[in-house]
Amino acid sequence: MRTAFGTVHVVGAGLAGLAAAVELAAEGRGVRLYEAGRYAGGRCRSYLDAELGCRIDNGNHLLLAGNRRALGYLERIGALDTLEGPADAVFPFIDAKTARRWTLRPNRGVVPWWILSAKRRVPGTQATDYLAVLALRRADPSARVVEALDRENGVFRCLWEPLAVASLNTSADLASAGLFWRVLAETLGRGGAACRPLVPRDGLSETFVDPALAQLRAQGAEICFGARLRALHFALDRVTELVFDTGPVGLSRGDSLILAVPAAVAARLVPALTVPDAYSPIVNAHFRCAVPTDSPYFVGMIGGAAEWIFRKRAGLSVTVSAAGRIVDQPAEELRDLLWHDAALAYRLPASPVPPARIVKERRATFLASPAQLLRRPAPTTRWKNLLLAGDYVDTGLPAAIEGAIASGYMAAGRVFAGARATVRSGRRSPARDPSQHERQRALP
Ligand SMILES: Cc1cc2nc3c(=O)[nH]c(=O)nc-3n(C[C@H](O)[C@H](O)[C@H](O)COP(=O)(O)OP(=O)(O)OC[C@H]3O[C@@H](n4cnc5c(N)ncnc54)[C@H](O)[C@@H]3O)c2cc1C
Repeated sequence: MRTAFGTVHVVGAGLAGLAAAVELAAEGRGVRLYEAGRYAGGRCRSYLDAELGCRIDNGNHLLLAGNRRALGYLERIGALDTLEGPADAVFPFIDAKTARRWTLRPNRGVVPWWILSAKRRVPGTQATDYLAVLALRRADPSARVVEALDRENGVFRCLWEPLAVASLNTSADLASAGLFWRVLAETLGRGGAACRPLVPRDGLSETFVDPALAQLRAQGAEICFGARLRALHFALDRVTELVFDTGPVGLSRGDSLILAVPAAVAARLVPALTVPDAYSPIVNAHFRCAVPTDSPYFVGMIGGAAEWIFRKRAGLSVTVSAAGRIVDQPAEELRDLLWHDAALAYRLPASPVPPARIVKERRATFLASPAQLLRRPAPTTRWKNLLLAGDYVDTGLPAAIEGAIASGYMAAGRVFAGARATVRSGRRSPARDPSQHERQRALP
């Protein structure tokens, strides 16, 4: 595709790279997207598990209605209607030890009167117990969640701890209090309407990946699979050449590069780049079984081995975040352990254990500890035409869908800003920066 500006080369077709490519192509920029693998989506994709006989997601991903960047991206690629979820913010929980069930129901508005209602909050807690969470806002940047919140407070075990682990993929003992506050401010802090849970109806790829690729192709972007970037060549303040397995690609004067590969890969390619270097695993167990279609989309479990259990088309799927304590257990043991909890949550027979696939992502995300947050780089580099994108880039958000997409938008925004600077120097006509615009959305 020929445009007035140079080509933007985007390397890595995870959500960060896709978000950047979609923004740029939608504004008429020439985009070339390179991906090392045969599929796009990176850590957020679906595939056919031949043994299990169905498509599965690499891991269960939950969005909240307050994830405005992620929903803006889905609106941009025409995939908002591929999400589904309850009409309101309802979070069913079960305590694995006592089998006690309750449903957390934040009210829609920003004034959190739900904490005054015993039917909406965690059983056995008082409204005043919830106010203690405000300590996160005042926490020192070096503070961990357990240093800011009292473990003995009943809300900690049944709400703050599971939310921190799920949103930061880091145990509350290690996770940054400040980052957790940011998550709460963007979700619960904006009222129950922003906490409405949303899950992909068919699969991660059908929601986040396939519509983006279709749109990119329709807009003339080139997409190259099996293109692994091995090295970058630099001259003074610019990247001049990309060296792929498949051969070199030279960058012309007006071209830009958005490097949207995982942190460890970026650190190998870019000299003296500091990135987070400690990781946290996630274990998922996918069970092929019949589940009543009127049962909840998901159930949160307190005190079990499982943490969140999702109802899928083909069965149940269990997620364990910050899974260091179980990730080395053999798959057969994990299958039995996690089915016990899943069956309890969905009132299904504990035996026989249905066919299962255990997926261990050892480097699911970087560890969201205060020390690791300091290692997050800015999207800009000392090379004028090199930008970084990825969930590890310093967006102020956790390593998650929302953060990955935000980083793609930030990188695309810098490309637009560079183009505007070129215009101001009197050479070309301006390009609009769509990442600055809030879009109107109609949620499913
Ligand atoms: C099991 C699991 C569960 C999760 N659950 C949630 C959740 O519930 N909610 C949530 O918001 N987030 C969740 N996340 C996090 C979320 O998936 C990630 O933060 C996000 O997908 C990261 O996107 P990314 O584009 O930054 O990186 P990636 O997805 O890692 O994309 C990087 C891409 O670069 C490619 N690449 C690598 N090296 C090269 C190279 N040399 N040349 C070319 N291409 C290369 C890779 O193949 C990949 O496609 C979960 C993650 C996992 C693993």
